[in-house]
Amino acid sequence: MPHSHLIKPLIGDHYPMIDFGKGIYLYDKSGREYVDACSGAVTTNLGHGMEEIIQSIVDQGNKVAFVYRSQFSNQPAEDLAAFLHEKTGYPWSFFVNSGSEAVETAIKIALQHWQEKGMPSKRRVLSRWLSYHGITFGALSASGHPVRRERFDSVIGDWPAIEPPYCSRCPFGKTYPSCGLACAEQLEIIISRIGADNIAAFIAEPIIGAAGGAITPPKDYYLRIKEICERNDILFISDEVMTGCGRTGTFMALDQWGVEADIAAVGKGLSAGYSPIAATLISDRVMDPILNGTRVVMSGHTFSGNPLSSAAALAVLKLIDSEKIIDSVDSKSTYLINLLAKLKNEFSFIEEIRGKGLLLGIEFEPIGEANGGSFTSSVVSTGVENGILLYPAAAGIDGRKGSAIILAPPLNSSKRELEEIYKRLRSTLQTIEKNSGGSS
Ligand code: PMP
Repeated sequence: MPHSHLIKPLIGDHYPMIDFGKGIYLYDKSGREYVDACSGAVTTNLGHGMEEIIQSIVDQGNKVAFVYRSQFSNQPAEDLAAFLHEKTGYPWSFFVNSGSEAVETAIKIALQHWQEKGMPSKRRVLSRWLSYHGITFGALSASGHPVRRERFDSVIGDWPAIEPPYCSRCPFGKTYPSCGLACAEQLEIIISRIGADNIAAFIAEPIIGAAGGAITPPKDYYLRIKEICERNDILFISDEVMTGCGRTGTFMALDQWGVEADIAAVGKGLSAGYSPIAATLISDRVMDPILNGTRVVMSGHTFSGNPLSSAAALAVLKLIDSEKIIDSVDSKSTYLINLLAKLKNEFSFIEEIRGKGLLLGIEFEPIGEANGGSFTSSVVSTGVENGILLYPAAAGIDGRKGSAIILAPPLNSSKRELEEIYKRLRSTLQTIEKNSGGSS
């Protein structure tokens, strides 16, 4: 084998070279087929090989592939911002290249907002434990993900301040609803200790993704969080990088809690993986002081608002809209949840099935010798051997010892494809059980 120069995320031999993708399936160079039950990293919301999206990139490339945002605007970026306004109600979009950058930008805009309002002491950012907001230093500072933080703790901020709304393992040992939302109330306590005058923003993912495996808060949780933020004059940033653009059955997941954040980050499903792009969406309330003050957002990247990526995202969103794809998410979700319920009956090491729309999590009670993260890895790698791709998530209240996966197939998956996911997941779990020497 010739030496490879590509740094790979996995240690070991099993790192297949992909050849092509079609719909929910991927094919490697050896001809092996994988059903993508997690849309890569919860990204390929429309599956692979969608001609109209690819054509939109080609058409834009034939006009102009790159312009520098400080010199020119471009039509696809303008149209994408207008489309996002229509769909989300946020009048302002700032385009970047990744979810991490969208979160970084959200944080910077929150800080700038208070500076422009003459309140520069409002500069701390609070977040939750068991969260993931991205890999760059600002986004990692916000992330309550112990494993991803630990090597870099010398340079990142200690922003995670409150417990997650993790009902099945309530950190307060309470039960909803008699808990009185102790996890949300904690925000009030922490704010009173630090002082609202020192806090710019609170950031949270509507549904906890990579750090929890689709942990979904109770129905009144975000109303309470928003109320606490508003009363203390603290901006609420919703990180919808994983949940946004229809993944949970509404365009923004927070809509399901009847709450609107002051700033939101979207990524992943925005271009459904066809070209890198993410966006920070901003309300008038946040932008007004900036527009009346410095007049520019003090951030930006060379590739911000790239015409090719904007064209791809626009084609994705138009397709989702014209095919009414979001409307079908709930019924597909119910169908998949019913199939997963059968697995829960069959395998006693499935602890919980949770989530919303087509962002579903399965938490396991590890069996055999493996525990926590290593159990997740063995489920994921056994999945690969069984031709199914599953997204690993950290879980457990310490973010280390628990084990969970995310199922997030493309939003346009058919029932037959969801059944295929069920079948291959079932054989994966059968193998896991057999290898552990146990039976359910
Ligand atoms: N926020 C959330 C909620 C995410 O799930 C992710 C990616 N898993 C990110 C931010 C970071 O996005 P990216 O990997 O595109 O930088």
